[in-house]
Amino acid sequence: MIIFREEHFGGVLFDTDTLRYSLIEGRPATKPDRILLAQELPSRRDILSAPVRIYFEITRRCNLSCTHCFVSSSPRAPEGMPTSRAIALLDHMHDMNVIELRITGGEPTTRDDWFQLLSHAQALGFIVSLNTNGVYAEGQRTIDQLLALNLAQVTISIDGIEGGHDQIRGPGTFAASMSSLRKLYAGGACVRVNTVLTRDNISRFRRFFVVARLLCQRSIFST
Ligand code: SF4
Repeated sequence: MIIFREEHFGGVLFDTDTLRYSLIEGRPATKPDRILLAQELPSRRDILSAPVRIYFEITRRCNLSCTHCFVSSSPRAPEGMPTSRAIALLDHMHDMNVIELRITGGEPTTRDDWFQLLSHAQALGFIVSLNTNGVYAEGQRTIDQLLALNLAQVTISIDGIEGGHDQIRGPGTFAASMSSLRKLYAGGACVRVNTVLTRDNISRFRRFFVVARLLCQRSIFST
């Protein structure tokens, strides 16, 4: 689906299949599937009226304590803003004509209301993706909820193979994250792997990359 958002200089063309967008002058050559008209456009032609994509950190709490975490997340971190505040922020972003939301954290699924927030974002019409570590206390229930949402993309963090990943993210996390990846892929989700390169895993990255490509070629998960 192609979404067109009106701007002073022309507009934003957003492809919901690739999650990529481009800026164009004037109107699109072919009729878009959805058009977002601005309530008010900036007077300048060289700026956007609002962000196209927002990474929304709904919590700093996380069930893991990775060595490289750059948002200082841990199980002891606070859950974050109350549900009503998060809902109000989503409504505000919708009023601004933001097109895409990437829900992140911390680990978003550690919030009691994570499913409610993602459902609300989708009901508003956002293109919604989730960044997650793939380690779920509630196991299959969380997988089923994620599949029910039918998100644009679920990105799971994998930082190495087995011991290499576990060294950074904790014992047993590689097996848990890979299990979630496979279940989500088998259930029809669009899954993606996110890798953070650090001094702890850079030397093993070539092997990890080769294995990841093999997994892709066997269609165990997509890129
Ligand atoms: S899973 Fe992500 S948010 Fe959680 S501790 Fe690890 S790097 Fe930080």
